[in-house]
Amino acid sequence: MVGGRTVKAARLDAFGGIEKLVYGDLPDPVPGPGQALVRVRACALNHLDLWVRQGNPAYTISLPHVLGNDVSGILEALGPDAEAPGLKPGDAVVASPGISCGVCSRCLEGKDNLCDSYAILGADGGWGGYAEFIVVPARNLLPMPSRLSFEEAASYPLAFLTAYHMLKTLAEVRSGQTVVVVGAGSGVGSAAVQIAKHLGARVLAASSSEAKREAALALGADAVLACPPERLSKAVRAAVGRGGADAVLEHVGGEIFPEAVRCLRPGGSLVTCGATAGPEVPLDLRFVFFKELRLLGAKMGTFEEFRRLTELFERGELKPVVDRVFPLADARAAHEYLAARKQFGKVVLRP
Ligand SMILES: [Zn+2]
Repeated sequence: MVGGRTVKAARLDAFGGIEKLVYGDLPDPVPGPGQALVRVRACALNHLDLWVRQGNPAYTISLPHVLGNDVSGILEALGPDAEAPGLKPGDAVVASPGISCGVCSRCLEGKDNLCDSYAILGADGGWGGYAEFIVVPARNLLPMPSRLSFEEAASYPLAFLTAYHMLKTLAEVRSGQTVVVVGAGSGVGSAAVQIAKHLGARVLAASSSEAKREAALALGADAVLACPPERLSKAVRAAVGRGGADAVLEHVGGEIFPEAVRCLRPGGSLVTCGATAGPEVPLDLRFVFFKELRLLGAKMGTFEEFRRLTELFERGELKPVVDRVFPLADARAAHEYLAARKQFGKVVLRP
């Protein structure tokens, strides 16, 4: 450890446009009790980074701040009383982005994403991975899947954890069911296509972009839906028959939401984790009660789910999808690229 020295980071001194991301120096972080120091080798971007940079009031963040939720790297040192089972300095690690207290009743029953103090690394959970070094709770670290590169390992935590929690835990997707993935080209959407296939479901992938539909097919989607948003439920019925789908994964909101509800068969589940097209949606309650639909909200996932997910990557059962890698010094260009929504899969920074 090199106290008193500085490390390079892309930091935020103020909220606003991409010009607020400044590549420069920060004090060398020192791990406190229970924390680990990690040399960051790759950090993936999420849309959350753009919202935090712009000063979204949903997150209480003091400045300066360092963004970045999805981190892979090398374990450098452990702070006092820090435990990282199975890990020693020099090991390649991946960090779970969810920070929880570890001692409340929800944490103890394994529902740490519902902890009252739950926060996200690089958002409201402390400085994130747009830096050469980061300190994180040591218990958030797992050995990095050996078959992945650092860039690939950084690309899965937040998006795959969210999609896994949504489909496996909340919607309880089982073999033989039909799952519609709305916005299949996004980080969560492309992860959901793979996870739904892994769970044995038939997957219909909806995206407005032909290139993203092609990419969803390459990831294993059984069919794609190329319709305009207002015709989504008709297209789903044409594909699966009159009853509709068993589950819809949705993270768009706005006008697509009522259509997503209409895609469901009786007893079906809609699970949502985002509202990029608008947070207030019309909802015809008659569909909800006559069909006994389940409308489920999702926020990230638990550490136990992250562990299971990491095992699936270790065994090669899921594939990370990296669209493009930028040097950390070009974080502004990476934000611009993500905001344009041209990517399929993850955009990654490399210090
Ligand atoms: Zn807790």
